Amino acid sequence: MTQLSTHPWDDDHLKEECGVFGIYGIDEAAAHTVLGLHALQHRGQEAAGIVAFDGHRFNAHRELGHVADHFSSGKVVERLKGYASIGHVRYSTTGETILRNVQPLFADLEVGGFALAHNGNLTNAYALRRDLVRRGSLFQSTTDTEVITHLMAAAGRGDVVERLTEALLQIEGAYSLVALAEDMVIGVRDPLGVRPLLMGKLGSATILASETCALDIIGATYVRDLDPGEIVVIDHSGVRSIKPFPKRQHRFCIFEYIYFARPDSSLEGYSVYEARKRIGAELARENGVPADVIVPVPDSGVPAALGYAQEAGIPFELGIIRNHYVGRTFIEPTDHIRHLGVRLKHNANRAKVDGKRVVLVDDSIVRGTTSKKIVEMVRAAGAKEVHMRISSPPTTHSCFYGIDTPERSKLLAAQHNVAEMAKIIGVDSLAFISIDGLYRAMGQPRRDPDKPQYCDACFTGEYPTTLTDQTDNSPRQLSLLTENA
Ligand code: AMP
Repeated sequence: MTQLSTHPWDDDHLKEECGVFGIYGIDEAAAHTVLGLHALQHRGQEAAGIVAFDGHRFNAHRELGHVADHFSSGKVVERLKGYASIGHVRYSTTGETILRNVQPLFADLEVGGFALAHNGNLTNAYALRRDLVRRGSLFQSTTDTEVITHLMAAAGRGDVVERLTEALLQIEGAYSLVALAEDMVIGVRDPLGVRPLLMGKLGSATILASETCALDIIGATYVRDLDPGEIVVIDHSGVRSIKPFPKRQHRFCIFEYIYFARPDSSLEGYSVYEARKRIGAELARENGVPADVIVPVPDSGVPAALGYAQEAGIPFELGIIRNHYVGRTFIEPTDHIRHLGVRLKHNANRAKVDGKRVVLVDDSIVRGTTSKKIVEMVRAAGAKEVHMRISSPPTTHSCFYGIDTPERSKLLAAQHNVAEMAKIIGVDSLAFISIDGLYRAMGQPRRDPDKPQYCDACFTGEYPTTLTDQTDNSPRQLSLLTENA
């Protein structure tokens, strides 16, 4: 889900990534959801929420901050009674984070209570919202997700699944949803299947989760990924699948494999860790360079660096160490301290880089800030040569489907060619995996009309849906509300 911005061009608000979890048919459903959200914490650290249903009432708890900070107390979990529950973790780097935007959202519909959690980003949410507001809808949040519950209310007829289907037929973009209605958990994947959503089993309980690591944590077994365009309805009579959308070519987000998902997860039946290693190996084949040591930029660069090192036959070493106890919320008080700030998170391991020709492997260059600082640090620790290899093609376009990327003017690769980037970052050489190399590593020929494809818009600018809100430049009317968050 994404917080809508007051101006269509104000991309500072388009920065949200999320994780979702749902479980039906188990005692202490909320406690299981807490564990699931712990495993999905990497998908969003800004806020977390859970709604459970106990057969009679909905019980909700939503907070800003980490899961561990707010859902560890027995008191909170005890209050979230129920045999069915859904949860959400939300990430946003800038823009207001206010409690009214924390999911799951809850709506009291004509057909009963309805809680909704969303991973992804709708691309026509503002256009729909404007229409709904004209027709009398009173929005409570500034998120794109809320248009779904309003469209359901406006449907005026049908049961909860029929209303949800009618709403989904009007929205565009990327969405993996989990919803909780009275005695029912629902899972939805958008027709392109951009964001992940999969199903698991624990005894007689059914689980929905963004990644398999959320199944592992509760001892559940993986059943399958939801199909693109599939709605799964889980209730006392079992699991039912509906496919109301015209069939489209699968466009799963390739960046989930490159960076976003946890390496111990499997998505679409494919291990994220193995994918990263294969991409690293392909990177070494395409862009090898004589060197003494292969060093990952931790943590996300580690599997790709391993794959690179094994393919190149060059030793892999932890030449940069990451401090795991540094919060992302550290506020640097002055320019001087901000400049020093980088060493809070990473430090060079002099013992492994001094006097060496070093290949640094990272998954992506966005603004270039990380790479520049890391290169400086490795040189200061005595490296003789520093080469940078990136396990994704240059990030030249913003993501409108739920991954945090800044506007194009702030993307280094949108403004500079590779030679210029190398100069800015301060390396002896810089190379990215090619888009074809990336597809080769994933075992899929690119743009084969008969095979599932990936969404690679951040590297190619080929967006697989219309971007209605991006092309609409009319002023937006979203009132800003500050709360005691
Ligand atoms: P930058 O410093 O802006 O070039 O960011 C690049 C670094 O951020 C890389 O080390 C990536 O691992 C990491 N990264 C890439 N994409 C994202 C994202 N969407 N959210 C948070 N971190 C990211």
